[in-house]
Amino acid sequence: MRVAQIDGEAEVFYSLQGEGTRAGDPAVFLRLAGCNRRCSWCDTKYSWETGLELTEEEVARRMLAFDCRHFVITGGEPLLQTEKLENLCSLLPENSIIEVETNGTLAPSPILARRVNQWNVSPKLRHSENNASLLPEILSSFVSLPEAWFKFVVRGEEDWAEIESLGLPRKRLLLMPCAADRESYRQALPEVCEMCLRHGVRLSPRLHVELWDQRRGC
Ligand code: SF4
Repeated sequence: MRVAQIDGEAEVFYSLQGEGTRAGDPAVFLRLAGCNRRCSWCDTKYSWETGLELTEEEVARRMLAFDCRHFVITGGEPLLQTEKLENLCSLLPENSIIEVETNGTLAPSPILARRVNQWNVSPKLRHSENNASLLPEILSSFVSLPEAWFKFVVRGEEDWAEIESLGLPRKRLLLMPCAADRESYRQALPEVCEMCLRHGVRLSPRLHVELWDQRRGC
């Protein structure tokens, strides 16, 4: 499978989950390479084209080297490598927690739907300027999975109508500020908090930006 690389090494690292409902949990992160979108503010553009080709066994070995059985598989877009991801998941202990971050453009396979403990689906709104539409029929395939959450990067109230038009369950919506660095994150947070209160949805922090600013691989 193709794994993003950082300083010439496969991007597998131990850190705290920075976003979503499990924010703050220690976890082993795996970043897969390749994405089917081109968001203007993407903070992992380096993962789009390049990557290291490793066997699933080798990737599992590196993930299991950490004393932690909570895994977060992100990208890029991990579901572009669905078959290999299924193989990888079969190599991780059955009682481990697996979270997958996805942009909501590819439906989960039945095998992954059964195995993955939590889906963090992050559809990209118009302001991402990736020139591709949202795919409500794919998003509905996640709605049927009770462990799927829908996490939106927002710039302000002007994004709400687009989110609402998707008809996703409000109890499973999370909003988080569009910010690549600590300063802009802190500036954007109050408005996103207001949006969450106004619409009765959950706020997602971006702990990695708050804690480590623009550093990669942490
Ligand atoms: S979907 Fe995610 S990884 Fe892909 S370009 Fe957009 S922000 Fe980057």
